[in-house]
Amino acid sequence: MTLNVTTINTELLETIAADAIRTLENSTRTDAKRWQSAIRKATLELQSNPFWNFDGKEVVIMSETSNAIYTPNGVCQCKAYAQRQPCRHRAMHRLLTRYTQTA
Ligand SMILES: [Zn+2]
Repeated sequence: MTLNVTTINTELLETIAADAIRTLENSTRTDAKRWQSAIRKATLELQSNPFWNFDGKEVVIMSETSNAIYTPNGVCQCKAYAQRQPCRHRAMHRLLTRYTQTA
């Protein structure tokens, strides 16, 4: 399944994001709040940034505000990841992976 901003079902995406955020409510991990925030940002970006593509395994995201390209897959190339913080790019990859498993 190839997904991009024009083919993604936003209703399904928002359902998957809401489930993930709810699961984190019950989590004891210290970064749960930051992941919830990352998931919210990821959900918005998947609907607004036209420069991403998911081939079913890998997502390529080009920043709307810089020339940066991110290929998150557990790891990421952004500053947040370098500081060992949750980031919206990894949340995007996770949401899209879950989306293809659900759709
Ligand atoms: Zn990142």
